[in-house]
Amino acid sequence: MKGSSGAASGPPLSALTRRSLLTGAGGVVVAAPAIVRAQGLSKRRVAVIGAGVFGTWTAEHLRRAGHAVTLIDAFSPAHSRASSGGESRMTRAGYGKDEIYSRMARDSLVEWKALSSRSGLPIFVEHGVLFFTSKPDSYFADSVAVSRKIGLPIVEMTRATMAQRFQMIDFAGVETGFLEPGFGALMARRAVQTLARQLTDKGVIRRTMAAASIRTNGRTADAVISKLGETIQADLFVFALGPWLPKLFPELLGGRIVATRQEVFYFGTPAGDLMFQPGMMPGWADFNGGDVYYGFPDLEGKGVKFAHDTHGIEVDPDTHSRQYSAAALANVVAFRDRRFPGLRGAPLIGSEVCQYENSSNGDFLIDRHPTMSNVILVGGGSGHGFKHGPEVGRLAAAIVLSSGPQTEPRFTLATKATKQAREVH
Ligand SMILES: Cc1cc2nc3c(=O)[nH]c(=O)nc-3n(C[C@H](O)[C@H](O)[C@H](O)COP(=O)(O)OP(=O)(O)OC[C@H]3O[C@@H](n4cnc5c(N)ncnc54)[C@H](O)[C@@H]3O)c2cc1C
Repeated sequence: MKGSSGAASGPPLSALTRRSLLTGAGGVVVAAPAIVRAQGLSKRRVAVIGAGVFGTWTAEHLRRAGHAVTLIDAFSPAHSRASSGGESRMTRAGYGKDEIYSRMARDSLVEWKALSSRSGLPIFVEHGVLFFTSKPDSYFADSVAVSRKIGLPIVEMTRATMAQRFQMIDFAGVETGFLEPGFGALMARRAVQTLARQLTDKGVIRRTMAAASIRTNGRTADAVISKLGETIQADLFVFALGPWLPKLFPELLGGRIVATRQEVFYFGTPAGDLMFQPGMMPGWADFNGGDVYYGFPDLEGKGVKFAHDTHGIEVDPDTHSRQYSAAALANVVAFRDRRFPGLRGAPLIGSEVCQYENSSNGDFLIDRHPTMSNVILVGGGSGHGFKHGPEVGRLAAAIVLSSGPQTEPRFTLATKATKQAREVH
C-alpha cells in the first residue's frame, strides 16, 4: 500500500523536506543529520527492495534469522515485466564444470519442494530434464561427473535410448544426452507470489513503492526514498532489482548488467494427445552445436513451451515491447517442426516477452556496495537464476548479517566486467 507506515518506515514527509537532500551519482542522496538508532541490537531492520525470486528468498532467510524485514516493490511480486514473472522456469543441475551452480540447484530444490508442499497448487513439477547434443563436449561429460560427485541421479543416454523413450522428439543428428530425473519445472510467478504471501503471513511488511534514491549518512545508507518522497529507514538494505539494478546504480552497474530481449512461445497440443504431458515428455535443451533451444511439456494446459536461448537485443525493461516478433516466432516454429514433428501445424496459444539481466559472464552478483557498507547488491540472474533463488537468498542474507566481505569470489562486483561474454549455461 503506497505511503502506508510500517516497522521500517521513516519520519513523516514534512520532516524529510526540512533536510537538505543532495542527489548524487546514481540517485544517491546525501543527508545532513544522522539518524539516532540503537546499536548492537541483534534484531535488525532490513529493507529488501525488489520482490522477484532473489528478493523474496533473501527476505525469507532474513525473516528466518529473526530480523524485521520490509519487502518493497514498485509492482507486484513476479509481475509480468519482471524477470521472475514467467509461467515456468527450468531447474536442473547440469552446469558442466561449474559445480557451484550444480550444488546451488540441488540445495535450492529442497526449498522449492518444501514451498511446493506448503502451497495449494504445485510449484515444482518433477518431469525430468533431458539435455542432448549433436557435438558431445566437455560440458556434457563434466555435468555427468559433477552430478555423480554431489550425489544426484543422472542417466547418460545414447541417441537410440532417447529415441525409444521420448518418441515426441526427432533426434536426427543427435549423438548423446543425459537425463536428470529429479528435476523439472518451477511454476515461476506462482512460486514467487506464494512465497511473498507467506512472508506477509509471517510478519514481513510489504510495501508498494518505486525506490528512486538512497539517502546516506557517511559511509552507510539510512533510507531509501521514492519519487514521491516516501521514505523507508532501515539498518541494512538489499537491492535485488533484477534488470532494473543498473537504473538505480548506473555508475556502478551500467554495462555490467545488461538486459536482453527474450521471447518464449506456447503451442497447443493435438486434442486428446497425452504425448506432450509431463511424465511422458521431459523438460529439454537441445545444444545443437552451441545454438541452444529449450522447452517444457504442456504444464497445466498452458501449451508446449519453446524458446531460443540466445541473447536478444539490449532492451530497457520499462519500455521494450511485450509483443512477440514474427522473426522469433518463425525461428522457433522452424526448430519445432524439425525436432517435434507431432507439433507441426500446432497453434500458437501464448507468448511471453521478458528479459535476461546478464552479467558479463553469467555469474551472479551478490556483494556489498563498495561505498555504502550496509547496502547489498543482488542480481545478474543471466537467464539461469530462477532455480537458484533459495540459495542466492541464503548467501545474500549471510552477507547482510556479516561484517566481512562476501565469501564466493565469483559473485563479487569486482568480477563483473563491461564486456559481455557468456560463459555460464
Ligand atoms: C524468458 C526467460 C527464461 C528464463 N528461464 C530460466 C530457466 O529456465 N531457469 C532459471 O533458473 N532461470 C531462468 N531465467 C532467469 C530467471 O528468471 C531470472 O534470473 C530471475 O527471475 C531474476 O530474478 P530477480 O529477482 O533478480 O529479478 P526480477 O524478477 O526482475 O525482480 C526484480 C524486482 O525489482 C523490482 N524493482 C525494480 N526496480 C525497482 C525500484 N526502483 N523500486 C522498487 N522495486 C523495483 C521489479 O519491479 C521486480 O519485481 C529466465 C529468464 C527469462 C526472462
